Amino acid sequence: MSEADCLFCKIVASEVPAKIVYETDRTLAFRDVNPQAPTHVLVIPKDHYRDAAALAAADHGLADEVIKTAHAVAQQEGIVEPGYRLVFNTGPGAGQTVFHVHGHVLGGRGLQWPPG
Ligand code: AMP
Repeated sequence: MSEADCLFCKIVASEVPAKIVYETDRTLAFRDVNPQAPTHVLVIPKDHYRDAAALAAADHGLADEVIKTAHAVAQQEGIVEPGYRLVFNTGPGAGQTVFHVHGHVLGGRGLQWPPG
């Protein structure tokens, strides 16, 4: 399932280039073009869902896979210790700009909480 004008669907289809760091049958992880930390990777389901709530509602098990992929990326990047942040901006008021659900995996530096 894909949407014609969705940037991340185009990355899944190899129509837009991306630095892919990890892939499973149903998920893809690639580096953010505007990194906010030494490690900043986006993790997506290959199928199109507009946000985390739509993903969780529509496909039992795929949200789990996205989170497992995020953790595998963190392991691969060596940031499980001391820790990493996994963020799903949900809705424009929270800063979501690409409406294909994605988790930001952030780490490799001290991460303050709450974020700015
Ligand atoms: P959000 O604001 O949560 O929707 O996050 C969207 C993220 O996608 C931002 O951090 C952007 O820097 C990132 N981004 C936009 N275009 C691309 C692209 N072509 N490849 C990788 N990351 C991108």
